[in-house]
Amino acid sequence: MSRVDLVVPDLGNFHDVPIVDVLVKVGDTIEVDAPLVTLETDKASMDVPATAAGRIAEVLLKRGDKVSKGSVIARVEANSQADVPASEAATAAAPDKSAGGAAAPAAKPTPAPTPPAAPSPPAAKPESEGDTVRMPMPNLARPPQGQVDFNRSTQLLVLGSGPGGYTAAFRAADLGMQVMLVERWPMLGGVCLNVGCIPSKALLHAAKVIEDAEEMGSRGIAFGAPEIDLAKLRGWKETVVKKLTGGLRTLAKQRKVEVVQGVGRFVSANVLEVMSNSGSERIRFEQCIIAAGSEAIRLPGLPDDPRIMDSTDALELPEFSGGLLVIGGGIIGLEMACVYDALGSRVSVVELTPQLMPGCDPDLVRPLERRIRSRYEQILLGTRVARVEALPEGIRVTFEGEKAPAPQVFGRVLVAVGRSPNGKLIGAEAAGINVSDRGFIPVDRQRRTNVPNIFAIGDISEPPMLAHKAMHEAKVAAEVAAGERRAFDVRAIPSVAYTDPEVAWAGLTEIEAKAKGIAIEKGTFPWAANGRSLSLGRDEGMTKLLFDRESRRLLGAGIVGTNAGELISELALAIENGCDAADIGLTVHPHPTLSETVAGAADAVEGTLTDLYIPKRK
Ligand SMILES: Cc1cc2nc3c(=O)[nH]c(=O)nc-3n(C[C@H](O)[C@H](O)[C@H](O)COP(=O)(O)OP(=O)(O)OC[C@H]3O[C@@H](n4cnc5c(N)ncnc54)[C@H](O)[C@@H]3O)c2cc1C
Repeated sequence: MSRVDLVVPDLGNFHDVPIVDVLVKVGDTIEVDAPLVTLETDKASMDVPATAAGRIAEVLLKRGDKVSKGSVIARVEANSQADVPASEAATAAAPDKSAGGAAAPAAKPTPAPTPPAAPSPPAAKPESEGDTVRMPMPNLARPPQGQVDFNRSTQLLVLGSGPGGYTAAFRAADLGMQVMLVERWPMLGGVCLNVGCIPSKALLHAAKVIEDAEEMGSRGIAFGAPEIDLAKLRGWKETVVKKLTGGLRTLAKQRKVEVVQGVGRFVSANVLEVMSNSGSERIRFEQCIIAAGSEAIRLPGLPDDPRIMDSTDALELPEFSGGLLVIGGGIIGLEMACVYDALGSRVSVVELTPQLMPGCDPDLVRPLERRIRSRYEQILLGTRVARVEALPEGIRVTFEGEKAPAPQVFGRVLVAVGRSPNGKLIGAEAAGINVSDRGFIPVDRQRRTNVPNIFAIGDISEPPMLAHKAMHEAKVAAEVAAGERRAFDVRAIPSVAYTDPEVAWAGLTEIEAKAKGIAIEKGTFPWAANGRSLSLGRDEGMTKLLFDRESRRLLGAGIVGTNAGELISELALAIENGCDAADIGLTVHPHPTLSETVAGAADAVEGTLTDLYIPKRK
């Protein structure tokens, strides 16, 4: 075994080039060509590959040090003479050219060097090992896809600043990576903070206050009809949004995450072009996390008329008369319906499938449907919108279906028929990234796309399109990019409809259990037997737990009722931790709370429930 110096090769006209990252440490076993350090000039960054294989015995340089040709980076105990390039074996001096079949290190750190054949990246360990190897750092001297100019470079580029993007950028920065965050909108935070979760929940809170006040009338406290100042309500909603999006700017600054504003498009697997009002620039990246989200689906054939809105328009709370039709009875449509109903609009909902919130267990939807049927003008299920015409007096809608009513005219129409991922809008093909017909970017458990140095997370990767799923994936992708061993491995991603009553579920649903033939044992607790829900005047709720019949572990849970969205977290934790009915039932829940219904549903399965009388099975 011999010690070999691994040195900086000829850098052309460059001297005293700073090291921005050291990629090896003492004890690492490396192969020929493994990246040792990343250097950055004002024109480019590049990795210096090893010219010998073996165990790293010494690392002589650190981040921030400046190097020139011949600087010794590290010393390696070469495995055998065969691992030592002939030119080095005798002298252990700096090589200018590759030897022993190893590719040459960067000759000149210019933006567009002439590439020899693309290098094959070191084989990653099989996914089944649950392992993550540090991504092979692309060598700028040998870009895989021919010559591509660039203006500047970064270790990690994150495309999109929604909950997926900003979480990934911040986590990666916390792990020591140099990060650029590219966002087309002037505000950070993506759909969720600007035109999704946050503004909708602010308005839903206002709606809840109005409805609660209204209902207290029958219990002896009358507030009178609400006086609604829409401008003030809009202003308050904007304040909430700005507080959060402004906070993100500060957090980015604190972490030295560079925010680049503009529309990003891939030009290769290592370069993204960013176009903005001030021109365009090309950013070279070693790794990239795509978090470019999704957009509202527009129904084909609809007239272009401002009275036909998507959820973003609806959050602006336009004033109108003549009733609102919500096309789509999913979560977003029903939440917006809830807001407009509370604010005094006549609301109708039309849904193509026979059930509101398709995919959710029908017993969870029923209490919501019962309540909104009594408040809304119409709920049309199993009904198709066949035609939409913009007339001076309003939007005329023609329906189709067994119970379809005659055509009607509405003041406004909200189209809430789902969202489509932005996979086809980012030039993914130029980077060689696979995109499905629907626009999703398939990923593995580490959220890696088919291109090894590019990850995809959030709405653009796969359903469900939920902010908390995006954030969870973001941490996985950022940690893997930083060289950690991580995988996206969850049993339950909770879904919440912040309607009134709320509907929340996590893990297996009864519909899925039936479809997959999974034998379950079900425990339910009706909220009519819960003191807290009675004292809130809202006893229509229900808590349902689904246990594996054999192991008795919790597989899924669903709740409908006030605050269901807060209650579901306990059950997501129970699913993740493999809790059984006894674990949940024997956990002391405070009294009187809605959370007691969770323990009650578990007790119902255990046969220990005392709050209800369930006759013993013979
Ligand atoms: C009305 C509404 C209510 C919702 N409520 C909830 C809720 O209560 N709970 C929940 O979990 N989810 C909710 N969602 C869904 C949630 O908003 C999304 O799941 C979440 O925002 C996805 O995060 P993301 O990071 O994947 O993408 P996004 O939040 O969509 O962010 C993507 C970002 O990428 C940027 N971008 C896209 N393309 C480019 C490009 N080429 N160049 C530069 N930048 C680009 C976009 O401008 C955007 O800022 C709601 C959605 C809507 C519309």
